[in-house]
Amino acid sequence: MSRIISNLLLTIALFPTAIALAACAAVVGEEVLDLDEEVGIPLVAVVTLLFAYIYWTVVWWTTVRWTAARRFWTLLSVYGSLGAGALCGALLAALLDEGEVAFVFGAFIAAVAWMIFSACAWRETGAERAARARMPGGGAYQGPLLCPKCGYNMRGLTQARCPECGTEYTLDALLAANVERALPERELAVAD
Ligand SMILES: [Zn+2]
Repeated sequence: MSRIISNLLLTIALFPTAIALAACAAVVGEEVLDLDEEVGIPLVAVVTLLFAYIYWTVVWWTTVRWTAARRFWTLLSVYGSLGAGALCGALLAALLDEGEVAFVFGAFIAAVAWMIFSACAWRETGAERAARARMPGGGAYQGPLLCPKCGYNMRGLTQARCPECGTEYTLDALLAANVERALPERELAVAD
């Protein structure tokens, strides 16, 4: 299983895990700590929110290429998402007379905003993608690596065997076939 697939599964697992955690925290708050609803519900929301922030960060941490700019945008994502949650919670609190409901709603908005903002901050830039394509194995040719037999795009695979039709190539043969295929298009582009 590739890193991305396992990370996606872990991301999906975040939601039921967070719900289970919230249920456990609610039971502990009510039965063990004997808290009132006005204190207990916001506390459960904060615990669950904290869990969601940490879980999401741990899952994706190693796939992020950490630069100074990306650290800055990540920090901004934390504050921005908390701000968005607080704003939405406050708006709902003004409309509704139920503070606890508004608090839970605000926490939910903050968690969703954190995932969206951080995903934008952590996304690979065009320059980084180009640099990765130039790395050993990527070759100077940056176009698609299509299977000459069935046309499946094999770029990014770790072996030169087509997963679609099963044909095996050497890396040289695969690259040569694709560069050759791309050449006429490039020459036409220059002629235009
Ligand atoms: Zn193929």
